Amino acid sequence: MFWGNEQADFFETILYQHLGQSVEVLDTQFLSGGDINTAARVFSSEGTFFVKWNHARSSDLGRQTPDGQSVEGSDLFGAEAEGLERLRQTHTLRVPNLIGYGQQGDKAYLILEFIESDGAGLRNASAAYWTQLGQQLAELHAHTQPLFGLDHDNYIGSLPQRNTLTENGHTFFFEQRLLPQAGQALYNGLLDKQTYEALFRLRDRLPDLLPPDRPALLHGDLWTGNVLLTEEGQPALVDPAVYYGFREAELAFTHLFGGFDTRFYEAYDALFPLEPGFADRIAIYNLYPLLVHVNLFGAGYVPGVERVLNRF
Ligand code: ADP
Repeated sequence: MFWGNEQADFFETILYQHLGQSVEVLDTQFLSGGDINTAARVFSSEGTFFVKWNHARSSDLGRQTPDGQSVEGSDLFGAEAEGLERLRQTHTLRVPNLIGYGQQGDKAYLILEFIESDGAGLRNASAAYWTQLGQQLAELHAHTQPLFGLDHDNYIGSLPQRNTLTENGHTFFFEQRLLPQAGQALYNGLLDKQTYEALFRLRDRLPDLLPPDRPALLHGDLWTGNVLLTEEGQPALVDPAVYYGFREAELAFTHLFGGFDTRFYEAYDALFPLEPGFADRIAIYNLYPLLVHVNLFGAGYVPGVERVLNRF
């Protein structure tokens, strides 16, 4: 395959910086699937790597924080690297090894171990695969801390995700998850005032609607696009937005676009059972990813938000 000299130089420069030895790029394969960044599989004299990059400021992509500050692309990848390391330290789910991240010219980048996966994706996943994923997620969620949030803010996709440490999980869910996204959607004219106010009425009911739980370590963006089936038939997770939150919020996320096998839920529940009535709570938790979708992809997701608010 042909690749421009400039591209090869970029990959060789950043790999040299993080491997500490000169690297010859042999081939590059651009990957599809990412919504936010450009990603490639880079074959080199030192092995195969996953590299993703974007313009160093995501404001170049037309994205800003709600208060109008531009987001440094390298900060986005720094947060992702930190999230991957935090997941790895639990020794529960496989995540790619971190090679490095930084900024080179006008590009922010992240370099990871390339995880070879089954070309057909999750369609080929076995019953054992789904059971393992469910068990490993339950083991991840057994990692708890006293407060909801995290010691730093991070991102969900390219949007800032606030993690101010909070004692009360319902307050955290409303103030750190729903409100910032709804506020941004209101500000950008995607959400109307009525819907925004309906959200405040829901706030008072959250303690009755969602059971209390300990703050559990979550992947934070668990949809099928971030779940890999490795060559060996094992699960691996990428692209996290970690924080300590309601574990039911993570399981709800997996229902948003579907694709998780029933054996995944059975295995999870066998190890770490949920309170009865979870199915009725899924829509409330998923207000958060839905509002994120409104802000990332537009008003097409607003009716979904309105339906949930009308129901509760
Ligand atoms: P974005 O941040 O733009 O959403 P992702 O991190 O989701 O990008 O990566 C895009 C795609 O590349 C993913 O859907 C996944 O299939 C694949 N991918 C991500 N990380 C790796 C990796 N370390 N090894 C192999 N494939 C990966």
